[in-house]
Amino acid sequence: MTVAIRAIDLVKSYTPGQRALDGVGLEVISGEVLVVMGPSGSGKSTLIRTFNGLETLDSGRLDVLGMRLDASHDQREVRAIRQRVGMVFQQFNLFPHLSILDNITLAPIKVKKMSPSLAEQRAVDLLEQMGIAEQARKYPAQLSGGQQQRVAIARALALDPEVMLFDEPTSALDPERVKEVLDAMRQLAAGGMTMVVVTHELGFAREVADRVMFMDQGKVVETSDPETFFSNAKEERSRRFLRQMM
Ligand code: ADP
Repeated sequence: MTVAIRAIDLVKSYTPGQRALDGVGLEVISGEVLVVMGPSGSGKSTLIRTFNGLETLDSGRLDVLGMRLDASHDQREVRAIRQRVGMVFQQFNLFPHLSILDNITLAPIKVKKMSPSLAEQRAVDLLEQMGIAEQARKYPAQLSGGQQQRVAIARALALDPEVMLFDEPTSALDPERVKEVLDAMRQLAAGGMTMVVVTHELGFAREVADRVMFMDQGKVVETSDPETFFSNAKEERSRRFLRQMM
């Protein structure tokens, strides 16, 4: 069992006296899907953003794929981590002025110095895997939200990450577009990708998660296997959350 991410006592405040992360500890095992749930404002997004250096820490220690991120890390470590940890956001964040293909090939060419023809071939393969090969020459605005989010996943995968982070990837989508994105994520999980997914999609969590971590007020309330979490959660706070969701 290899640990991909280990977090020890993470603390982060945006405003003095208010802790977005209040002593969070966890481990993500290589190959597992960890789903993070919790009410709005509980610190889920802050937490996974620390995993690739998008948020700094006030204190605590974070090991990501053997690289150290703490309150005093520098940008070199962050760059190294971002090459190995992909992230998908709620608002796709595609480059609007670039074609779908160029969105995907940009980082491999610039960051990994991949040849343009190789990067393009890989992009086409990834778009095929995402079921949207025919969109390659279009621009983001010409695609539906669900298609754009699948491009964002392909773009993250183009750097061959070892870990993928998803921050509410379906929250900005029309309901009828949610399934196609969850299906792409299911496929990725089935292929053995290490994934940390912040989501409110209970069905996905139940079916795909190896473990569910529930947060409230910047703290981890419980971490359970999905069967336990959804039918017999250990903590009353988790059960109250689930009652509100169903
Ligand atoms: P969640 O993802 O569970 O909704 P967040 O991590 O977004 O929670 O937020 C945790 C807490 O930190 C909330 O109180 C939120 O208002 C605050 N917060 C998050 N981002 C910022 C920011 N950029 N500036 C100030 N406060 C923030």
